[in-house]
Amino acid sequence: MKKYKLTITLTTLALFASLLSGCFGNNNNAADSTQITSGNSSQYETLEPLSQTYFIFDTVVNVKIYDTRATKDNLQDIENILKNIDQKISRNQETSEISKVNAKSGIAAVKVSEDTYDLVSKALEYAERTDGLFDPAIGKLVGLWNIGHEGAHVPAKEDIAEALLLSDYRKVEMNDDTHEIYLQEKGMDIDLGSIGKGYAADVIYDYLTDKGFNSAIIDLGGNVFAMGSKPGGKKWTVGVQDPDKERGNPIGTIQVEDKTIVTSGIYERFFIEDGKLYQHILNPTTGYPVDNNISSVTIVTNRSTDADALSTTLFVLGIEEGLKFIENTPDAEALFISKDKKLYGTSGFKKLLNKTNDSYTFAN
Ligand code: ADP
Ligand code: MG
Repeated sequence: MKKYKLTITLTTLALFASLLSGCFGNNNNAADSTQITSGNSSQYETLEPLSQTYFIFDTVVNVKIYDTRATKDNLQDIENILKNIDQKISRNQETSEISKVNAKSGIAAVKVSEDTYDLVSKALEYAERTDGLFDPAIGKLVGLWNIGHEGAHVPAKEDIAEALLLSDYRKVEMNDDTHEIYLQEKGMDIDLGSIGKGYAADVIYDYLTDKGFNSAIIDLGGNVFAMGSKPGGKKWTVGVQDPDKERGNPIGTIQVEDKTIVTSGIYERFFIEDGKLYQHILNPTTGYPVDNNISSVTIVTNRSTDADALSTTLFVLGIEEGLKFIENTPDAEALFISKDKKLYGTSGFKKLLNKTNDSYTFAN
C-alpha cells in the first residue's frame, strides 16, 4: 500500500515535471514495466507508463500509457494522429483544411473531411448556445491581437472594428450533404484554438480505447484526459492549477475516473501593456479581450472537446451566467477561480475538490 502511495505521488509529479520541462523529449522506456497481478486489476497494468512528449499546436503534449502491451508503435501512431489533426484544423498551417476554408472566404465553399466538418459543427453549436459569445469565426480578431505570440500589442481601434465585422458565426454556411464550409465575407477566418486541444485529446483517447488500453493520462498543455483508472483500480488524482503560481502548484486536487479536466485561464497566454494584462480569450461583441474577475475556469466532464469548448465558453460568460450554463449541461462540472482568490463551483465540483491552499475560499 505504501509503495502505491509513493508511486501515485511520483506519477502526479511526473505529470507536472513533463510539462515543466517544456521540450520535445524522448522517453521511450517501457522496458522495466512492472506487472501488477494483485486484486481485480487488469493483467496488463503497470506502474511504469510508456510515456512520450510531443510539441504541437504551440503546446507540450504528454501521453502516458499504463499498459504492458503499449509499444513505440503506439507512440508513433499518436504522433501521426497529432500531426494529422494539425494538418486539418490549424490556422497556422497554410495547407490545412481550415486555412483553405479561410483562404476561400467570400469566394467559394470548401469541402473538408468529416472530422473537420463535425468539429466546426460542434463549435457552432456552442456559438448558438451562447448567442455568439463563444465564436469559432473569431479568427480575424485572434490574428489581429496575436496574443501569446511575439510582438502582441493593443491593435488600432479601426482595425479592431474591421475585424469585429468579420468575426461572426452567423456568416458560416455549413452544407451537411457535401461537407462544404463557406465563409460569407472575404477576410473571415475560422479559429479552433478554443476546442482543438480537447478534440485532439478525444481522438487519442479513442485510439487508445480501440487498441484495448484502459489506463492512460493524455495531457495537452494542461488539458488532461485521465483515462480509465490508475493502475490498481483507484481514481486518478489531478491538480487544479493555482492561477497565481507556476504550473505544478495546485490549489487542491480532485479524484476522477475516466474524466477529462480542462482549464482556461488568464495566466498562460497574455501580454501586458501600460500595466494592463490582456489575456487571450476575446469578447466577440467588443473585439477586446474579456476583462472580468475570472482568473481561471476548470471543467470536468466526459469528452475533452466539450470540456475545451465549455472552458472557453464559461470564461466569456462570466461566473454567474457561466454557472447557469453549466447547470444546463449534463454530466459537466465547473470551478471558477476569481482574481480575488474566491472559488465558485457547481455542487458536483465542490464535492470533488480537496482544497489544499487556504488562501482560496469558497464564495458559493
Ligand atoms: P488555451 O488555448 O489556452 O487552452 P482556450 O481553450 O480557452 O485556451 O481557448 C482560447 C483560444 O480560443 C484563443 O487563443 C483563441 O484562439 C480562441 N478564442 C478566443 N476568444 C474566443 C471566443 N470568444 N470564442 C471562441 N474562441 C475564442
Ligand atoms: Mg477551450
